[in-house]
Amino acid sequence: MGIITVYNTEVTPGNRKIITIPITRDLGVEIRIKAHILAGKQDGPTMLILSMLHGEEWFSSLIIRELINRIELDDLKGNIIAVPVANTSAFNTGTRSVMDNSDEPDANRSFSGRYQWISNQITRAIENELFSVSDYLIDYHVGSWGCTMADIGYGSDYKDKQMVDISKGMAVSYGFPMIHAMTLFKGTHSDRTSMGCAGVKHKIPGIVPEIGGLGFGETIERDWLAQNINGVIGNLKYLNMLEGEPELCPKYLFIKDYWRTSPKNAGYLETKIGLERQFTEIKKNEHLANVIDPETFDILEEIRSPGDGVLFYTCRNYMVRPGGWTFGIANMEDGNSKWVSSKDLKIERP
Ligand SMILES: [Zn+2]
Repeated sequence: MGIITVYNTEVTPGNRKIITIPITRDLGVEIRIKAHILAGKQDGPTMLILSMLHGEEWFSSLIIRELINRIELDDLKGNIIAVPVANTSAFNTGTRSVMDNSDEPDANRSFSGRYQWISNQITRAIENELFSVSDYLIDYHVGSWGCTMADIGYGSDYKDKQMVDISKGMAVSYGFPMIHAMTLFKGTHSDRTSMGCAGVKHKIPGIVPEIGGLGFGETIERDWLAQNINGVIGNLKYLNMLEGEPELCPKYLFIKDYWRTSPKNAGYLETKIGLERQFTEIKKNEHLANVIDPETFDILEEIRSPGDGVLFYTCRNYMVRPGGWTFGIANMEDGNSKWVSSKDLKIERP
């Protein structure tokens, strides 16, 4: 039977422990990471689940809470390390990034950093203490208040083809119909991100589930919570850490390129479409929202679809700033995003 050791703390099979990894001392506050260690009764791999590298995405901490209550250690083959709040500094200020005037304030763009910024020290501890003992990664990035994300990102360009297959298998096993092929060697998803760093430097395949957000009411938010729990359970089954077969969707949209309909101006975003339009077709130039001047009440800007596509992430009426999260529309014009029936998917178990 394997014993898992995380940050010099041993957890024996069939036991749970919360450990604290100290990071640094900021002005008047200690920055540290608390991790729940769930050691299964049976041998197996270790799954690392990260949440809140971005400090305002607190919906995912609720997923971790629900998950650790649901997991029976008698049934678990291997271990789960679950971190509800990876970035306590940004959580403390209620912001995506660390508010320290650094040139690397975004913790999910500052892995593999050379400096001592708070974000560098947080991500270095994740690398040294958590990636070093993990085999698979789930890193949550959900919507902040007012917007809801809606896709599962997988690594489509790991050098090792088997890692691509496992990452894709994890994404499909999450049982959510929108899947985004992330590129880890270029663009924003480089090895400065959790997924990129884990995959490129530590050979840990993973996924980035982005389901749910805040400010939409308890009924739909409970539903998103349930979808995420089913998703992790599906992953644990796919990775042979729980008995059984993951439940697949009848079909998936594999999203290659997508449009962000970001506003150019700040203001009150008044939507023209509701949540019921999620996962439906959007026509080029369709009117999606107006940005209203919060002082004169003039329409500052109309948000329209740049092309024909499928809506995945979306938002409610709320106050936005330039570049803010509104709608994500999968580009269906260039032929690179495709619906695939699950019958046509070859999913190899690791
Ligand atoms: Zn995020």
